[in-house]
Amino acid sequence: MTRTPTTARSIADLVDAGALPPDAHADAALAQVARDYAIAVTPEVLDLIEGTPANDPIARQFIPTAQETITTAEERVDPIGDDAHAPVKGIVHRYPDRVLLKPLHACPVYCRFCFRREQVGPGGDVLDDAGLDAAMDYIATHPEIWEVIVTGGDPFMLSPRRIARIVNALDALPHVAVIRFHTRVPIADPRRVNDDLIAALRAARAALYVGVHCNHARELTPDARACLARLADAGIPLLSQSVLLRGVNDSVEALEALFRALVSARVRPYYLHHPDLARGTGHFRLSIDEGQALMRALRGRLSGLCQPTYVLDIPGGYGKSPIGPTYADDAGPDGTRAVVDFRGGQHPYPNK
Ligand SMILES: *Cc1c(COP(=O)(O)O)cnc(C)c1O
Ligand code: SF4
Repeated sequence: MTRTPTTARSIADLVDAGALPPDAHADAALAQVARDYAIAVTPEVLDLIEGTPANDPIARQFIPTAQETITTAEERVDPIGDDAHAPVKGIVHRYPDRVLLKPLHACPVYCRFCFRREQVGPGGDVLDDAGLDAAMDYIATHPEIWEVIVTGGDPFMLSPRRIARIVNALDALPHVAVIRFHTRVPIADPRRVNDDLIAALRAARAALYVGVHCNHARELTPDARACLARLADAGIPLLSQSVLLRGVNDSVEALEALFRALVSARVRPYYLHHPDLARGTGHFRLSIDEGQALMRALRGRLSGLCQPTYVLDIPGGYGKSPIGPTYADDAGPDGTRAVVDFRGGQHPYPNK
């Protein structure tokens, strides 16, 4: 695919970039998708595309399809129930010890399966100075907040100056022990992580972590790996979050390659998310049974360093729960539990 110098932000841009066929211009369903949901594909990601959303795991994540116009009865506008836990603008406080801080809703790319697809976009809400102050006030007046997860949108889309302002404000609150950024920038726009951005991430007191959203080994290009190395060399521990997606990474081979690539880039796999019930994303979903079978197949085959926790964000705002598989089966008649090894063998173990 020929490299385009700018981010593709429309059906027309994607046709120009060769990522959609010329007749996509006249496709009413795609026009509808473009009205309903944001589109952005960076030059780096366009370069990675080797096929169509039907057969290429990169195209499938970022190139809009008519399937997005199909919504099912169980899909929701707010799939993980953030709205019910937003005490002030830009804060989601669901768990006692930690909050999300969402300073903006822009992202470098817009993932077609995004769980916040109804909010994210280039015109989406940004916290202005007063809004950021109000969010910081909330954190300052809630001493039970031990960790702040800066997300969005993608917080690495902010200027280094604004990122430094957030880091310094949080670092000044003694009860905030951990600052965690969640971003897709190292994959989608790796050169954005320059010396200024890395300097902005320096907290004097709090521990600062970066979580990277990555779903396929091919996303870890030499540029992306160099970006992750800059962060790791700056002393920042790196975690990953991946979404289990049909047609992207729903095979043992794809997940194995992904987790090995992450660990070899010094990123510790943290969560494998079961896909959320966001509107127009049914073509990405698979069953919990399928997800558990994939996780079971990875156990033993892959180093423990390469094993994320498989989680579901429960619809309605109840938070994330690990959804197995479990390896300690129910009690037998003599009070023992059966522990399952990675080959499926069962071993009794006293339950006391
Ligand atoms: C996902 C999430 C967190 C972070 O959860 P961890 O399990 O600590 O990664 C915190 N708050 C909210 C509202 C979340 O949705
Ligand atoms: S980067 Fe994250 S928030 Fe942004 S579109 Fe992708 S999944 Fe959604």
